[in-house]
Amino acid sequence: MGDKPRRLPRYTSYPTALEFSDLSPSLYQDWLRDLPDDQPISLYFHIPFCEKLCWFCGCFTKISNSMEPVQRYLDVLRAEISLIGGVTGRKRISHIHFGGGSPTIISAEQFTDLMALVGENFDILPDAEIAVEIDPRTCSEDKVKAYAASGVNRVSLGIQDFNPAVQEAINRVQSDQLIADNLRWFKQAGITNINFDLIYGMPRQTLETIEETVGKTNDFRPSRIALFGYAHVPWIKKHQQMMDKHHLPEQAERQAMFELASTKLQEFGYQAIGLDHFALPGDSLLVAREEGRMKRNFQGYSADPATTMIGFGASAIGSLPGGYAQNSPDLKAYSESLADGEIPVRRGLMVDAQDLMMRDVISTLMSNFAVDPWAIARAHKVDYDFEREGADLESLVAVGYMSKDGTSYRITEAGQPYLRAIATLFDQYFPQGTDIIDRCVHESEG
Ligand code: SF4
Repeated sequence: MGDKPRRLPRYTSYPTALEFSDLSPSLYQDWLRDLPDDQPISLYFHIPFCEKLCWFCGCFTKISNSMEPVQRYLDVLRAEISLIGGVTGRKRISHIHFGGGSPTIISAEQFTDLMALVGENFDILPDAEIAVEIDPRTCSEDKVKAYAASGVNRVSLGIQDFNPAVQEAINRVQSDQLIADNLRWFKQAGITNINFDLIYGMPRQTLETIEETVGKTNDFRPSRIALFGYAHVPWIKKHQQMMDKHHLPEQAERQAMFELASTKLQEFGYQAIGLDHFALPGDSLLVAREEGRMKRNFQGYSADPATTMIGFGASAIGSLPGGYAQNSPDLKAYSESLADGEIPVRRGLMVDAQDLMMRDVISTLMSNFAVDPWAIARAHKVDYDFEREGADLESLVAVGYMSKDGTSYRITEAGQPYLRAIATLFDQYFPQGTDIIDRCVHESEG
């Protein structure tokens, strides 16, 4: 497949961001104005700064060793919150997520002020989930106290790998003691919903280091774990060239790493969820999966009931009934728009009823490993015959990757490594030129 293999979508959105094109701020403003009052919405805040660059990083972030640019950015972000809040009116909020970059780079006081402004512009529901992505190296006891006082009730710690040699190879060194300190602060502050983010497929990782990382993870016993495959795209993320590609595991080893980690976590009492998540019994994502409420969104899998998410900050993407909207990723352009009192949206995609129906089909398949596409089309009142898709599903049944019960299709254990490839058969924007079985066998990644 050459140096630049086609990467199968993870379907954290549908249509995917690859389909985005120019979007006018005035159209987005109309979408915001038209949001219904009777449904809660979700807010995402992007903090695009980190103190040190991890060489595996695939996020939109900037390295800053000074707080000046961070404070300037927060001033602009505050202007955006007031501007958007003025357009939407005081909407009810069921979920808030701070991502980055490193949200932990902002001080306790800055975080408290930001959340106060969010509360002035929106009605944060008493049972709202408020989540923050944590870089343990820039977190502190003071910041954790500020999170708790502002209502934060879930944190995701960027762990990646506990092995020191791997940490050196990826330029992200953080001791076990630091993780223990972070967890103590969260416990003392009453924040008990703890996620660990782990990554496999990075340089210097072996089956032994994966087993070590999963074992230490179990010692800390977070309620939820995300186990992502490292995406090596040095032609897009130039800094990934800092890692010696000869130390990257081969595809078969990547797959073995995932399977080992998955097996071990399940032995430790975690239940596998979807593509790459694991949770202890009682975790809200697991409950949502069991009740059929889990879905795909930009955070991966989510139990968030809101169908609308507004994105704030440079590069942030929102998902509204009218479509997707992405703010300018250019900090200067983002700031200048807001200085002029303009909404900083640049790109996006208007969606139609068929897109929304197909999003539901793909999200259901990615969440439950099973789908009845005809039933979903009927529920959406969309007239679509699934003729090509039905033929592909039958091919998958014939090779044992799916089973069939009436018009409902379920991915078998043999088909589970090919979940993303199987989902592409419903993607109306994905080039369907290759045979679906070939796509599973040749394009799936560990
Ligand atoms: S802390 Fe996260 S966002 Fe920042 S460089 Fe590392 S991986 Fe990227």
